Amino acid sequence: QSKAKGRNTISFFHQSIQEAADARMFLEKELRSAIENQDFVLYYQPQTDRLGRLSGSEALIRWEHKEKGLISPDQFIPVAEEAGLIVPLGIWVFRESCMQMRKWLDNGLDIQHISINVSSKQFRQQDFVDQIAEAISQYEVPASRFVIELTEGVVIDNIDDTVKKMRALKQLGVKISIDDFGTGYSSLTYLKQLPLDELKIDKSFVRDITTDFNDAVIIETIINMAHNLGIDVIAEGVETEAQRDFLYNKGCRVFQGYYFSRPMTSADFEVWVRKGER
Ligand code: C2E
Ligand code: MG
Ligand code: MG
Ligand code: MG
Repeated sequence: QSKAKGRNTISFFHQSIQEAADARMFLEKELRSAIENQDFVLYYQPQTDRLGRLSGSEALIRWEHKEKGLISPDQFIPVAEEAGLIVPLGIWVFRESCMQMRKWLDNGLDIQHISINVSSKQFRQQDFVDQIAEAISQYEVPASRFVIELTEGVVIDNIDDTVKKMRALKQLGVKISIDDFGTGYSSLTYLKQLPLDELKIDKSFVRDITTDFNDAVIIETIINMAHNLGIDVIAEGVETEAQRDFLYNKGCRVFQGYYFSRPMTSADFEVWVRKGER
């Protein structure tokens, strides 16, 4: 009897692995055709000063799924990376951002920059910088209107290639930010070698800033270090006035988070910006 039970357990186990594999295959297939059909949209989240005055924006992708509605990037970016689909998807994101910036400039909307998230596989493509340069020249947008966000993990993975590509990006005029800063393992030694414009403090530190003494110390250290190196600091995930005030008192001058605004469609973002202009 116990044998039979064991066998059932095993077959159930295999079944669930099979199901997971099938679901994954299905998702990959759907993702592939979504890329062909460009079933994606970029949302824009404001980056602001203490008073909520715009200083830039971050583009955040969503999948417009026909049956399931909007799907958040955490649910498909990792799959896209593993399936090798992140490269075409990343190119779409950058070109779409260029197109959006062109529209904003043509409509007299001064959105200082669009920050764009770039995955490891995309950044490691040999022609990554060429792709960026091509999109910028095709849409006739100033390179200085774009910030590339890379995570610490990506940056330290192959430091020689990173430095080479970062210099080429700087040469174009594109700015560079380290996203989710504080969650990786980077050291001062390597930070010093990189032509960084900005560090983005990860939202996990911001969350408990007013109650967790350690997080508060870490944040203060990051802000001071960045400023001593001549690098700007932005805090992400700012949800409350208390968090904003705390960050401001520690020297942080740029903020992004639900306290100011959630990510929005470009149309809603434009309305939000125009309201602030008055
Ligand atoms: P991220 O680049 O660190 O983006 C910040 C995330 O925090 C976004 O989630 C944003 O909506 C969310 N967020 C903003 N303010 C707050 C806040 O006050 N509180 C909280 N709890 N969350 C806040 P989202 O849009 O779901 O994106 C998740 C991640 O997906 C991004 O993290 C980024 O790593 C990745 N991602 C998004 N768009 C792209 C893209 O175009 N390409 C690539 N490669 N990755 C992307
Ligand atoms: Mg980001
Ligand atoms: Mg982040
Ligand atoms: Mg993140």
